[in-house]
Amino acid sequence: AAAAAAATEEPIQPPVDVKYTKLLINGNFVDAASGRTFATVDPRTGDVIAHVAEGDAEDINRAVAAARRAFDEGPWPRMTAYERCRVLLRFADLIEQHAEEIAALETWDGGKTLEQTRGMEVPMVARYMRYYAGWADKIHGLVVPADGPHHVQVLHEPIGVAGQIIPWNFPLLMFAWKVGPALACGNAVVLKTAEQTPLSALFVASLLHEAGLPEGVLNVVSGFGPTAGAALCSHMGVDKLAFTGSTGTGKIVLELAARSNLKPVTLELGGKSPFIVMDDADVDQAVELAHRALFFNQVCRYVHDVLRAIALLATSFDSFLWFVLEQGQCCCAGSRTFVHERVYDEFVEKSKARALNRVVGDPFRRGVEQGPQIDGEQFKKILRYVQSGVDSGATLVAGGDRAGSRGFYIQPTVFADVKDEMKIAQEEIFGPVQTILKFSTVEEVVRRANDSPYGLAAGVFTQRLDAANTMARALRVGTVWVNTYDVFDAAVPFGGYKMSGVGREKGVYSLRNYLQTKAVVTPIKDAAW
Ligand code: ADP
Repeated sequence: AAAAAAATEEPIQPPVDVKYTKLLINGNFVDAASGRTFATVDPRTGDVIAHVAEGDAEDINRAVAAARRAFDEGPWPRMTAYERCRVLLRFADLIEQHAEEIAALETWDGGKTLEQTRGMEVPMVARYMRYYAGWADKIHGLVVPADGPHHVQVLHEPIGVAGQIIPWNFPLLMFAWKVGPALACGNAVVLKTAEQTPLSALFVASLLHEAGLPEGVLNVVSGFGPTAGAALCSHMGVDKLAFTGSTGTGKIVLELAARSNLKPVTLELGGKSPFIVMDDADVDQAVELAHRALFFNQVCRYVHDVLRAIALLATSFDSFLWFVLEQGQCCCAGSRTFVHERVYDEFVEKSKARALNRVVGDPFRRGVEQGPQIDGEQFKKILRYVQSGVDSGATLVAGGDRAGSRGFYIQPTVFADVKDEMKIAQEEIFGPVQTILKFSTVEEVVRRANDSPYGLAAGVFTQRLDAANTMARALRVGTVWVNTYDVFDAAVPFGGYKMSGVGREKGVYSLRNYLQTKAVVTPIKDAAW
């Protein structure tokens, strides 16, 4: 009832204007070649925020041509690495100076809470940019010993024009994960944002130019996947693709890349990540962490207010804690909660109470934990999954319906007695729906956790070092969080096993995606020296 009441309050007027709605091509904001626009919608109400230029294949052609010129002839790959580093550092400063405006835009367009965007995501974008700026002048090759009188250098060169496609769940952070390493390595970029959330990328791209980025180095095309997105994937002038989104679309991206010019592709795709609670767990802590892992992907086992306080402090830490109030729309959500049979009943009871306490409402309002889902499509899809859970015989212990009467709010929902073969335990729901499964041994839970086409992340909650170590090694996933969840750090690689993706982002690993490797071999006349 509390959740529903909060969601029906009058929406707060966002304290921000929409400044940029056109495509960014060659350093200028321009209309789409077709002149068409599409509406981007406020998920709190379904009302139109702005009409945005709708890029398609023709605009992708223009953007790739600009990026090609910037790469093949422009100053960016030719300036010193230190100069590139300083552009990225100035950009990070500008992000901080405009933090309020950027956060408000992101909350308005995407429905995530202002506490999350202002408190965590915008500072993280600045942090990521400084991290990649730090790499710009530390990328270097090798001299390798060869059999015979040869001097062999291995050069690491920028790969060229990178096409990047990002989703709507973390528009700004995905911008940072993709654009940061590409620019640090000296590449040019064409970025295709998600049609649901085009606004924040246009704003920060303008700041990047203010920071000194030469024209054409970053082009941003708003538009739809099958038109603008597919054109980018198929383009012969693109040297590399990076994509974050659903596994189904990832397959299309890879295929389009193969059919055109075999450009290399990195993919960050879906997940159905297990969160495993052992029998020695402190149930209250485990319930809180599992709740956060699923509903808003949050670290830490302390009470809420302490978490908030730490979240604010954490913005100045190098190693960054991640506090997301995300309404379950995260690819690495801990979406299969496996609980040991000895603590299962207590766990279910307490998870129910926690979900019922969760505050759903206007993301601009203080104290709100969960905003609306991104759009009507996701909203309906989540409710279909809820129905499927009920139909397949899982026990609905909390939620199960929309919250309020307008916008795309959904009640925090908890299912118990979930079985592995149920759809809600197998497919990515991408919403505030927790599924709790019972297990009895480590071997069993590892087998069941791994029995998934996905392999993005896992959580393990136990004080037993041997169990934690066994599971950390046995789980076929790209990240294992032990007694924590969703700790993200610029330096730590992220990506998936199996159908959760190809390649890694963040950390030193992300640079490999944006560099070519060239061997240069010259004979040595006097081999004695
Ligand atoms: P979601 O279901 O989360 O919207 P998608 O994988 O469809 O996930 O979307 C992620 C990104 O991929 C968005 O920017 C979207 O526009 C883009 N996209 C969707 N379909 C295609 C496609 N056929 N080719 C290229 N990009 C696409």
